[in-house]
Amino acid sequence: MGDVQQKMMNILFSDPKSMFFYWNCKENSWQVFGDYISRMVSDTENPLQVLLVKDLVLPEDKNVFEIFMSQIEKGIKIGIEEHKLEVQCHLNCKEGFQWYKIITRFIKNEQKQIVEMAGSLEPMTDIEIMQKKQMVHITMDRNPQVFSAAVREQFAKYPDDNFAFIQFDVEKFKMINELYGEDVGTEVLANILDTLKSLCNKEQLYARLSADLFMVVTKYQDEKQLVEFIHYLESHLDHYKDIHYRLAFGVYLVTEKTTEIRHMGDSASLARKTIKGNALQNIAFYKEDLKSTLYSRKFVEDNMGNALQTGQFVMYLQPKYSIADNEMIGAEALVRWIHPELGTISPINFIPVLEENGFIVKLDEYMWEQACIAIRRWIDEGKKPVPISVNVSRVHLLKDQLIITLKNLLEKYRIPRELLELEITETVQNINIDRVIRSLKKEGYTLLMDDFGSGASSLNTLKNTPFDVIKIDREFLNDFIESERGQKIIAHTIHMTKDIGLDLIAEGVETKEQAAFLQDCGCDMAQGYYYAKPMPISNFDELF
Ligand code: C2E
Ligand code: CA
Ligand code: CA
Repeated sequence: MGDVQQKMMNILFSDPKSMFFYWNCKENSWQVFGDYISRMVSDTENPLQVLLVKDLVLPEDKNVFEIFMSQIEKGIKIGIEEHKLEVQCHLNCKEGFQWYKIITRFIKNEQKQIVEMAGSLEPMTDIEIMQKKQMVHITMDRNPQVFSAAVREQFAKYPDDNFAFIQFDVEKFKMINELYGEDVGTEVLANILDTLKSLCNKEQLYARLSADLFMVVTKYQDEKQLVEFIHYLESHLDHYKDIHYRLAFGVYLVTEKTTEIRHMGDSASLARKTIKGNALQNIAFYKEDLKSTLYSRKFVEDNMGNALQTGQFVMYLQPKYSIADNEMIGAEALVRWIHPELGTISPINFIPVLEENGFIVKLDEYMWEQACIAIRRWIDEGKKPVPISVNVSRVHLLKDQLIITLKNLLEKYRIPRELLELEITETVQNINIDRVIRSLKKEGYTLLMDDFGSGASSLNTLKNTPFDVIKIDREFLNDFIESERGQKIIAHTIHMTKDIGLDLIAEGVETKEQAAFLQDCGCDMAQGYYYAKPMPISNFDELF
């Protein structure tokens, strides 16, 4: 080493608190520059002993340090992708525990095994320490990698502790923007981030995931204490100046620390979504069966009122076709629940609950009105309107109110009676239901017997029926069309139905062959994916 270099080295290593090291695998030699640790590494042959500052590491940092060490060991034995590794931890010094960073750089062979290693151990500067404390908080903002790394670090540090992911968002945040302006909205969110910074201790990680969505990862003792912590957060975060808003919290309790961090976050997110818009509950814990209970009775009942009010129930139209000339002759109105967070929820997931609790009456009336609005618009736009059939739940048929409601709607929108058709599923015979259906018939509505061929309906129901059209059920069609025998049953059902003067439409027609077969049997109308799927009204308009 030349003179100048030697001097440089002396300057470099004059800092008594730093240490530099170099290790060579082939020669198994190592060199240490710097006074601070030299007493620790005086008489050892294992190069890694250079880093045997282990005993100086603050107990709380031991895990982090050991992970660092094991990565290097693995790098020597098996190989490693990284060219550099770094760890930050407290080391015991004369003045007590101080923040240090240890950085090593590697030279590797073709097998990626470490063959040479040079590094330093230096006290961290005040700025670095400050950044270290805030690092997670600053850089984690929309940086999932940093966030995951920080969480992993916490897990490593506290292997025996319980951890929870708490995700929360501001309910109806859009409203704040609309009411107070976007600047205020931005202030609200900045304030949440600032407040989180002061509410969370240095072990608790927090991040802003997107505009109004935040995550906190924390240790906890038990659920009671965790809920208290959430209430504590909420009490400081749910207002800004005199603007008050609601926060919805989803909680995931970490059971297996090796799970991907992303999945843990997703689980908290899922829990939060189950209580979106729920006026009674704003903290939800993730449970394993949450996915299946997402559309559970409770979810539906807690959210249906709000969904109807905020226009989440949307009318889709599925066109009906005349098979012979392939012409669109009408449509069925089918409801879709377009949830702001969960996306489209299929009616099979909520209609049964709504039928049980009676809310279906409100939803159906809403759908009928939507159908009337569409027909009115077509007429006003000078289009030749096609009839829309709406589903009438059997719940309506227990009361006479239905007749008045329909009449009022048709009058309000000045809709010719033949343009609003009614689909009713005929199941068990009931005198009262029969009476209401007959009244509808007398009023002049076109009545379609829905789901014919499925379960409860039978040929018996066709005797003296007030219905005009029989709708062959999708499942009945699909099951029976499979076999020759089944095809015969379909064919005979169609013949007989025509024979007693009823019209027929087949539901759930998915292939050209099915359409052809139905036509051969004498069924002239069809509805199904082969023709078109249910679609939003804007798409349906294009079919004219
Ligand atoms: P539905 O009245 O029997 O309606 C036909 C169902 O078959 C619809 O399902 C439709 O999307 C589906 N479909 C139509 N063509 C095909 C096809 O080619 N292949 C397959 N695989 N499916 C097809 P959706 O929209 O999921 O509705 C399910 C049920 O929910 C409806 O059965 C109806 O009973 C009920 N529903 C839907 N909207 C309303 C409503 O506004 N009020 C009431 N009371 N019930 C409704
Ligand atoms: Ca139907
Ligand atoms: Ca059906």
